[in-house]
Amino acid sequence: MSHGDGDHERFAHYVQKDKIMASALDGTPVVALCGKVWVPGRDPKKYPVCPMCKEIFESMGAGGDKDKGGKDGGKK
Ligand SMILES: [Zn+2]
Repeated sequence: MSHGDGDHERFAHYVQKDKIMASALDGTPVVALCGKVWVPGRDPKKYPVCPMCKEIFESMGAGGDKDKGGKDGGKK
C-alpha cells in the first residue's frame, strides 16, 4: 500500500470539459485553470474544489451555464 500517488492532489480542479473527456480516454494530464497539470480522477465529486480554480473560474464570470440572459438590459 502506498499513498505516494497524488496524495497531495486531493482537489478537484476546474478543467475544460473537452479536455476532461480527452483525458478520460487517454489518461493524459490536463492543465487546470490554476495552472496545475492534473489527471482528473474518476470520482471528482469526492474531492473539494480547488480554491484557486474556483476563484479563477468565478473571476472569469463564466456566463455559460446560467441561462438568465439579462445582461444586455433585458426586455420588459
Ligand atoms: Zn486548481
